[in-house]
Amino acid sequence: MSQVIPLSVPNLSLDILENLRETIETGWVSTGGRFIEEFEKKVAAYVGTERAVSCQSGTAGLHLALKVLGVEYGDEVIVPTLTFIAAVNPVKYLGAEPVFMDCDDTLNLDVNKLEAFLEEECQFTDGTVINKSTGKKIKAIIVVHVFGNPASMERLMEIKEKYNLKLLEDATEALGSYYKDGTFAYRHCGTIGDIGVYSFNANKIITTGGGGMIVSNNGELLEEISFLSVQAKTDPLYFTHDEVGYNYRMTNIQAAFGTHQIDQLESFIDTKINNYNLYSNGIEHIEGLGLLSFRKDTRANHWFYSLIVEEQYKVNRDELLIQLNNFGIQTRPLWGLIHKQKPYCANQSYRIENAIFYEERLLNIPCSSNLKQEQVMEVLKRLGD
Ligand SMILES: *Cc1c(COP(=O)(O)O)cnc(C)c1O
Repeated sequence: MSQVIPLSVPNLSLDILENLRETIETGWVSTGGRFIEEFEKKVAAYVGTERAVSCQSGTAGLHLALKVLGVEYGDEVIVPTLTFIAAVNPVKYLGAEPVFMDCDDTLNLDVNKLEAFLEEECQFTDGTVINKSTGKKIKAIIVVHVFGNPASMERLMEIKEKYNLKLLEDATEALGSYYKDGTFAYRHCGTIGDIGVYSFNANKIITTGGGGMIVSNNGELLEEISFLSVQAKTDPLYFTHDEVGYNYRMTNIQAAFGTHQIDQLESFIDTKINNYNLYSNGIEHIEGLGLLSFRKDTRANHWFYSLIVEEQYKVNRDELLIQLNNFGIQTRPLWGLIHKQKPYCANQSYRIENAIFYEERLLNIPCSSNLKQEQVMEVLKRLGD
């Protein structure tokens, strides 16, 4: 029997051992050490920001970002329903409530509906957006670059300015994605809104086991985030604290992985794009199947590939998942929409239609950056049989 073809696994090399050996020999294994600084510098240089601040996870990064953007108890934050739940939970950590938006055909936040919601369902006075149905203040928008496909940042920045809202970019899936055209040509996802967050969880495009990175063009916000991530210590010797902080900083062990992984990021993206094109050429000839495309005016990192299983296909999406699994091919349906999840079903959601369509039809297929051409062919063969 042939090997299992996993959905998405890390692409690690034993070369990392050299860095790990150094952490062991020097004893710098916790939240201090040279790899942390080196990794922060490398990420900042890669995405083109002055500074980047590391943290324990993408989720921790999003939590700190929302906090320094001023989201607090009783506020509301506009979020997409079609994403991983970690993008939304930090809203609740701060005692605020999410308002759920639909996606468009790129799977990203539908900016037309967002605008219609702000225009028709909210009141905008003295620089403040009040949600008419709840009477609460809307402070921010969280946009997710889903599967590494860049969101409509031009429109989002216009909306953000017009309504005086904060814009947080969840770029956890989009490290390496950037725009090639328009106002933000050659700007990376994550570096355009008020704050951007990346993740290095094991299934992301590069990994540190677990970890995150926060970027912003506002140095003060980053300084505040950095301060809060180490227990808000104002005096390192006498341990004085003027605020409630968090233990959210990345460890040197995680960063030891990161400094090595980021040097390979461009080659990982090349592989992802090549494999995507192979899939795309094959799927074109299969009746009833499609492959979701990435925006042509961007260099998307092609992190995850989404198969669309249409009605004309020989079996439905869930049957296909089981069939492929029997052949040792791991796939995954889309996330359960967040507005329907238990902790969130009482929250407001606005005209959600597209997300439901995609939730029922998409299947993510193997996409690791160490996926071999033969394995792509094997998946294509099973899809076409
Ligand atoms: C992975 C992910 C996160 C969370 O990142 P962690 O590092 O796992 O905490 C948040 N949002 C989205 C959209 C993600 O895919």
